[in-house]
Amino acid sequence: MSAPNKSYDPVEVEALKPEEIARRRDEALAAIAAAGDLEALREVKVAHTGDRSPLALANREIGALPPHAKADAGKRVGQARGQVNQALKARQEELEAERDARVLVEEAVDVTLPYDRTPVGARHPITTLSERIEDVFVAMGYEVAEGPEVEAEWFNFDALNFPPDHPAREMQDTFFVRGAKGDQDGEGSGVVLRTHTSPVQIRSMIDREPPIYVICPGRTFRTDELDATHTPVFHQVELLAIDEGLTMADLKGTLDHMVRALFGEGMSTRLRPNFFPFTEPSAEMDMLCYVCRGESVGNPDRPCRTCSSEGWIELGGCGMVNPRVLIACGVDPDRYSGFAFGFGIERMLMFRHNVEDMRDMVEGDVRFTRPFGMEI
Ligand SMILES: [Zn+2]
Repeated sequence: MSAPNKSYDPVEVEALKPEEIARRRDEALAAIAAAGDLEALREVKVAHTGDRSPLALANREIGALPPHAKADAGKRVGQARGQVNQALKARQEELEAERDARVLVEEAVDVTLPYDRTPVGARHPITTLSERIEDVFVAMGYEVAEGPEVEAEWFNFDALNFPPDHPAREMQDTFFVRGAKGDQDGEGSGVVLRTHTSPVQIRSMIDREPPIYVICPGRTFRTDELDATHTPVFHQVELLAIDEGLTMADLKGTLDHMVRALFGEGMSTRLRPNFFPFTEPSAEMDMLCYVCRGESVGNPDRPCRTCSSEGWIELGGCGMVNPRVLIACGVDPDRYSGFAFGFGIERMLMFRHNVEDMRDMVEGDVRFTRPFGMEI
């Protein structure tokens, strides 16, 4: 304001002069026309219609005018603001139409394109490793045998020479489906989730006439908590050979062949005495550490994490089939002998592929499975 506004004539109020209102309006209209996109228009809107915009500031001056002058000034400012709002609305619609047209072109989806984006899954390494082990024995003439996962207690324990009071029959080790120990239901045998694949050996001996050469892979169950090294559902592979004249030497040769087929030339196994009800004699089997091949033993310069520098890795149990088991299955122990061994697939997967946590194997995350997918 250039001079004291004694008369309160709106013409004398600088901001309310008609040419000043027109100037502020034209400035707003020019800015609106120049806004190239919706973002720019939003800024123009704030600058020219917001509380601090030139026309809003002019509007505030009206209050200072005498009543008779207010109407004229209000009309002028109101008209200018109306024009600006109209222009804003028109430009907004124009820019939105432009954007929609652009999106239709730029983000168009061609539904006729080949459908090739389905993520490729992978077979679970437990399955592929299990099949790889089966292949080793099928190539030697063995037959793959399978049996039920819900199994009669007789097949799971009695036929395998487990005495009635064997601790493995306790509820804390075994999932009983029906008729737990001491709770017989009159049918003579309780029903369990099989705790090992050994009942398949019994079924094989009952179903077949010797010579028998079978490999039995499958799921087994024990009442373990799921943690990094235990799982209540796990997988075993068991092998059974029944023939005339089989000895521990045949067992040892078969084990050596298996570890060479799975881990490469130069591998071997060793046996340590042990006890299992279903084999006699029984042994723990170890395989040579496939990483250091035993060279870390007594050699502090070459420590081996895989075998803790012991040179051997525990693999499973084995032995000559107990004659009592042969008799239970109707096989003449004076004519036939046999050997058997079994081990856990999860455990072999852990040290063969450096899987550190068993839970990874059961969670079903395809990111775990996929790196194994190319196992042939
Ligand atoms: Zn080693």
